[in-house]
Amino acid sequence: MLPTISTIPLRHMASGDVLSLQVYKFIGAQPGKKVYIQSNLHGAEIAGNAVIYQLIEFLQTINETDLSGEIWLVPVCNPISTNVRSHVFSSGRFCSYEGKDWNRIFWDYEKHADDLLAFAKSQINFELEVVRKNYLSQIQEKFAQILEKINSSSGVPYTERFSYRLQSLCLDADYLIDLHSHTNQGLNYLYLFPNREESAKHFLLEFGIQFDFCDEDGFDKAFIQPWLALEQYFKQLGREIRFDIEAWTLELGTGMQMNPDSVKKGLRGVKNYLAHKGVLRISGFPLKESASYEMSLKPRSQMKRYYAPTGGMIQSRVELGSSVKAGERLYQILNFNKEGKLPTVIDVSAEQDGLVYDISANQAVNEGELVLGIIE
Ligand SMILES: [Zn+2]
Repeated sequence: MLPTISTIPLRHMASGDVLSLQVYKFIGAQPGKKVYIQSNLHGAEIAGNAVIYQLIEFLQTINETDLSGEIWLVPVCNPISTNVRSHVFSSGRFCSYEGKDWNRIFWDYEKHADDLLAFAKSQINFELEVVRKNYLSQIQEKFAQILEKINSSSGVPYTERFSYRLQSLCLDADYLIDLHSHTNQGLNYLYLFPNREESAKHFLLEFGIQFDFCDEDGFDKAFIQPWLALEQYFKQLGREIRFDIEAWTLELGTGMQMNPDSVKKGLRGVKNYLAHKGVLRISGFPLKESASYEMSLKPRSQMKRYYAPTGGMIQSRVELGSSVKAGERLYQILNFNKEGKLPTVIDVSAEQDGLVYDISANQAVNEGELVLGIIE
């Protein structure tokens, strides 16, 4: 099957050039779920572009009858951040004009809703599908008000325009997958939200990080939070419900690299997840191992970052992916001074046992810069 391809103008630049988004839509023969997958929201995190490319290649080899619902693919979803450089480095994690992280700018309906408890009460006896439809209309109605602001003569800053454009593509999706990687060197894993553990393992990644708290307006969270909130209000009213709505952020290895292993694992995970969900009917999937796959899940609060206690050069650092014990040396800082003394070497050791999931690309650090991350 072939996708329909649409190009959406995103930003008119001072030079007169226009940056755009391009959406590849694969529409199945049967109606079903809408899947939205994007990559490269953070400028250095490019591995997901290869996953989307390979998905586009793969989906062209199947028939429309093998797809239920639709899959929307948006590679290089943030051209501003993909293109920015500081010498040889991709430095596009932040919108430098507004000083904001590109993945903390999204619109969360829960923060704008009038009275969710009253809404839950009004829907308490309805079928789940009816509640979903009614709630989505409310979300869309509120969301449409942003466009009025954008089109007003005073306008809005670019991050609000950008978040509106991206979210307008996925507000009505059922499953959302945001493909990231580390900006530094990192492992392959995913972030998941409450009550979605059973689905998480079908990505077949080594581990998952559960949001036990989340006050950030990330892309995944802004999408799913309104639905989680409504589930909670229903619970308060004595009815347990769970919408078949899911949001995932995949971390695919190292920044500024298309690491083949990370790309392979990302692609396998997405295909396996979509086969498990019944969106794709493809031979060999879901993979046999997914039924019994045990994914280790850890709360986000157990991610511990180690910052350099002083400036210097990092040496003898533990390897990415290694397990460390409390008290074990993690790295040394080669520490120079301007006090007329000899240079020194300082040992830094682990506070607790854990797995090294992230290490800094730069082995020269100023005091207070990130050296590595450990998940306890
Ligand atoms: Zn990212």
